[in-house]
Amino acid sequence: MEMNETMQNSNLYLIRLGEISLKGLNRGFFEKKLKNNIKIKIHPYRSVLTREKGRFYLYVSKDCPDEHVFKVLRTTFGVVGFSKAVVCSKDWDDIVENAKKLIENEPFSDGTGTFKVESRRADKSYFMNSYQIECELGGVVLDRYPDMKVKVKNPDKELRIEIRDKVYMYTSPVSGPGGLPVGTAGKGLLLLSGGIDSPVAGWRMAKRGLKQDCLYFHAYPYTSEQALQKVKDLARIIAPYNQGTNLVVINFTECELWIKEHSKEEEHTLMMRACMMKAANAIAKQRDCKVLVTGEALGQVASQTLESMCFTNSMSEIPVLRPLVAMDKEEIISTAREIGTYETSILPYDDCCVIFSPKHPLVRPEVASEKRSYAEMGIDDLLAKAVAEAEVFEVPYTV
Ligand code: ATP
Ligand code: MG
Repeated sequence: MEMNETMQNSNLYLIRLGEISLKGLNRGFFEKKLKNNIKIKIHPYRSVLTREKGRFYLYVSKDCPDEHVFKVLRTTFGVVGFSKAVVCSKDWDDIVENAKKLIENEPFSDGTGTFKVESRRADKSYFMNSYQIECELGGVVLDRYPDMKVKVKNPDKELRIEIRDKVYMYTSPVSGPGGLPVGTAGKGLLLLSGGIDSPVAGWRMAKRGLKQDCLYFHAYPYTSEQALQKVKDLARIIAPYNQGTNLVVINFTECELWIKEHSKEEEHTLMMRACMMKAANAIAKQRDCKVLVTGEALGQVASQTLESMCFTNSMSEIPVLRPLVAMDKEEIISTAREIGTYETSILPYDDCCVIFSPKHPLVRPEVASEKRSYAEMGIDDLLAKAVAEAEVFEVPYTV
């Protein structure tokens, strides 16, 4: 392959693609999106991506720290695994120098576990055979990490070397997040509260390629400035996975007070969810979002029974996706920890649902009669005003 100037002054990373390399005729579309998603986040550093044998070769200008590239790849859906690689001359001292640098990176950098060196020689005239190369480089690894052990079958980590026209070295891959490139599934609107569930729901949909804007219903002064800040923080944590997002904030206080006055107490939560659906539909339309996404899980609370969900659905013209519907709280929490939202989600600022929730909410609502209750409230004008006054905050994809 012809090397251009950026590629020559670059660090090289190998990227493994999973599902998207099986995409048949659509493969080009998925790969183009993934390339773009990676390049945008590597920016302002220069990068070039090429594709060969179901892998990407990512060249990033040398002034970009490895750490930045690793962070980008860890948060980019479609990347199944990645590793740093080097291309060097066949001079043995050069090989050893480069091997030493390579093992300063993950997965070797923690210095534990088992490993092997695997050598392939396309150039059979090379002065060392594969076995000798493996022994010598194995020694280099052990000098640097005395606690590591050599294991030939199923080692934890590998250092691979190929002797061809030049020498290519790379390590076994670090896991990426998998999934499909964000944007390949279109755009949705995530109802993002300050809780544990909705950030995880958004992350899971992003993993299937859905780009999302976020919508938060704020009930100031019943919910504090800190509650809003918490939601902004959550949006910022999930934004890199989502290639950036926009957070729409609707002030819901007047609507909530209206609901409190104009509906029966046991229906408050249902009426509030109905209003959320209506407002979310309006915002989705403005922002070209084709579906709503929520963090609801079947049976988790009164408003998440099958009957309640049927009612909520009936108030939305566009589909409501609930990626957590079949997940236990424990499973959701474990994902929240993994993606780094948990610690923020458990900060103790109330959200609006807590403040207005009735003592004995209806758990088995009947769709037709709740729709009547909603219509009788006559809240549509107030809701339209709240939507019109929504504020939008841009949340960048900075990793
Ligand atoms: P979460 O942990 O996501 O807050 P939850 O278990 O508290 O969820 P509910 O309060 O019933 O459950 O909310 C269900 C879903 O409705 C949330 O996951 C979220 O998608 C949406 N939602 C709830 N409150 C708000 C809000 N104030 N702003 C935006 N969306 C909300
Ligand atoms: Mg909540």
